[in-house]
Amino acid sequence: MVAEVIINRGAKKLNRTFDYNIPKEIEELILVGSKVLVPFGNGGKLTEGFVVGIKEKSEFEVKDIAKLEENLTDKQIALAKWMAKRYFCNVSDCIKLMLTPGTRNKNKEKRIQDKKINTVFLKKSIEEIELEIQNEKIKSDKQKRILNFIKDNEGATIPEIEMFTDCSRAIVNTLIKNGYLEIVEKKIERNPLLGRDCEKSYKLQLTEEQKEAFKSVEKVINEEKYKQFLLYGVTGSGKTEVYLQLIEKVLKIGKNAIVLVPEISLTPQMLDRFISRFGKDEIAILHSKLSIGERHDEWERIREKKAKIVIGARSAIFAPIENIGIIIIDEEHDNSYKSETNPRYNAKEIAKILAKENNAPLVLGSATPDIVTFYNSQNLIDESEEKKINRAKIQLLELTKRANNSSLPKVEIIDLKQELANGNRSMLSVELYNSIEENLKQKRQTILFLNRRGYSTFIMCRNCGYTVKCPNCNISMTYHSYERRLKCHYCGHEEKIVNICPECHSDKIRYFGTGTQKLEQEIHKQFPNASTIRMDIDTVTKKNSHEEILNKFRNDNIDILIGTQMVVKGHHFPNVTLVGVIAADSSLNIDDYRANERTFQILTQVAGRAGRENLPGKVVIQTYNPDNFSIICAQKQNYNMFYETEIELRKQLKYPPFCDIILIGFNSYNEIEIKNISNKMYQYLVQRLNNEQFKIFRPMPCPIDKIQNRYRWRIIIKGKMTEEVNGILNACLKEIYQENIKDTRISIDVNPNNMS
Ligand code: ADP
Ligand code: ZN
Ligand code: ZN
Repeated sequence: MVAEVIINRGAKKLNRTFDYNIPKEIEELILVGSKVLVPFGNGGKLTEGFVVGIKEKSEFEVKDIAKLEENLTDKQIALAKWMAKRYFCNVSDCIKLMLTPGTRNKNKEKRIQDKKINTVFLKKSIEEIELEIQNEKIKSDKQKRILNFIKDNEGATIPEIEMFTDCSRAIVNTLIKNGYLEIVEKKIERNPLLGRDCEKSYKLQLTEEQKEAFKSVEKVINEEKYKQFLLYGVTGSGKTEVYLQLIEKVLKIGKNAIVLVPEISLTPQMLDRFISRFGKDEIAILHSKLSIGERHDEWERIREKKAKIVIGARSAIFAPIENIGIIIIDEEHDNSYKSETNPRYNAKEIAKILAKENNAPLVLGSATPDIVTFYNSQNLIDESEEKKINRAKIQLLELTKRANNSSLPKVEIIDLKQELANGNRSMLSVELYNSIEENLKQKRQTILFLNRRGYSTFIMCRNCGYTVKCPNCNISMTYHSYERRLKCHYCGHEEKIVNICPECHSDKIRYFGTGTQKLEQEIHKQFPNASTIRMDIDTVTKKNSHEEILNKFRNDNIDILIGTQMVVKGHHFPNVTLVGVIAADSSLNIDDYRANERTFQILTQVAGRAGRENLPGKVVIQTYNPDNFSIICAQKQNYNMFYETEIELRKQLKYPPFCDIILIGFNSYNEIEIKNISNKMYQYLVQRLNNEQFKIFRPMPCPIDKIQNRYRWRIIIKGKMTEEVNGILNACLKEIYQENIKDTRISIDVNPNNMS
């Protein structure tokens, strides 16, 4: 028998199969989906590969498979193949997501018990290391193996490296000496399932609304049918309780459950709710803070059918769980469900496939649903008959009241233009200043939120709130300081910067991009006695996790937490009664068609941080655009009103769900090649895609046009993504890779989270 094997390497040219003979002694064990070692290339070096097909014989003379390492199921292989097409990547990249973390699973290793351990991280960027491997600056196989292993696992301990790569500590030391690796003392979060004893909790009597939601899903579970639901309800409306009871139901009929949550909200508090209901033996947790050893063991527990509930971040959707009775995706609007690196998969799409395969419901939950999800949950109006007909792809389940009857906070909007007109040049309005002062007096805690994102800066008139928007795309133009020009990151439209506001003719045009550090300094100046703690990309490092900063804020009763969007999610601070948003405008002016949606989501969630228990909460939102509908809707906590306005805009401007944004990204060390290849691709696209249905923008440099010496270009296509278009794009990719490409890499992403 002969196996068709895909070689596990990133190179696009290897995205095809190679034939290998299956030796007699392992013939019975080899399946489609087996991970194997095969001799490959000129030296016949043993290389990892995956069996994707088995046949009688080969037309070539073939070598033997050297070793069988692990088996996947047919379904997993089928999914990987589907993903490769859908997300324009290699099958092997997709298969990797489904393999047990850590490659060798013979000797079960001990769990790590120290609270602090030394963890080895890459010191150079992945690109730099890959280049050095390519250029043979790094020659040793063992060194390469270690670097790849650390890259794949985002850090590892020395015992883990020794065990999984079969290399000695001495080689790690050499790599440290040569500047490739560094050792960082990392505090290991205790595995929440170890030594974690929660009091058993019992199910609550559901409210009428909860009961109705529960029954709708229960019916589908009983009928063993696939159906998608949106459980839409404000924070605290009891969504989690509904999830818990649905899972209980699923376990009762002998099936299993997957629960996805955003990485950042996988907090011990959140896990406790599941553990206290179901006990820790039934639950497996998968997230990036577990060591590889722990992840490996959790994976095995699932495979051995010991764990029946998988809770985890995005990649947990690939856990080896069978007989799925329900899939739940909490905070479904969160953009972390879509991977922004290769393979660029969307866990929501994968969940849908798995739910269908298992004839099980998929439940999406959110207080601020994704506009596209909500659109799909609306019954469409049949225009010929002007009748609402029941055609929604997703069934809407609504929870309108808070389950524990706590009230929503009072939200005030402060017009910063007015503050400036009154002579207040500080970052704090009079209202916010007074509120902080009052809160300090009451010994209650405050969160100040600075909504900053990425590298982009925009310009705005401080007198009237005017920002320059692209006439073609209605998206804020980004200021490029080097050329002193404004550029549209979608279509490339450029304009000279303006010094006088075209709306109000004042000269108060300013560049925006304020940081948390500056805000902290200002707070110290204005409130010298207040204690503060800062949380942003600079303070959240490998050493100080996000969790630790928040715990310190809570446990040491620090007066003021200053942070970026990281502070928004999933946390519960009983003593926080004031939340201040320094300038709501930054997210309104991101170069993304989702700017309004992000603003609404962020503000609604931030507002939800204030006064969650018996203390009443207050939120102060400062902005130059007090009339903007996303800000007003967030103030009123009115999702429906926001949705109605936003969906109209999307329709007019042709953004999702009415149209898709397809981004074809190129990166290369070679500037001439990248221009050539992207232009060639453009030609292909113009020839193949129907020009009436697609708007194809010419290739141009990305907003961040060079990273680590690699040039970055892109083509943007606006149009409806379909199976057919997917086929055309895959064909174009295949064709372009047949050109003599030396260095350029190409990626395709549909509605990416990040356009820079
Ligand atoms: P969400 O997930 O929508 O934020 P939760 O499920 O966390 O809401 O519920 C918020 C609070 O209300 C929790 O403290 C929860 O224990 C409580 N709660 C939820 N459902 C009920 C119910 N049916 N009866 C009483 N309390 C409830
Ligand atoms: Zn103006
Ligand atoms: Zn534009």
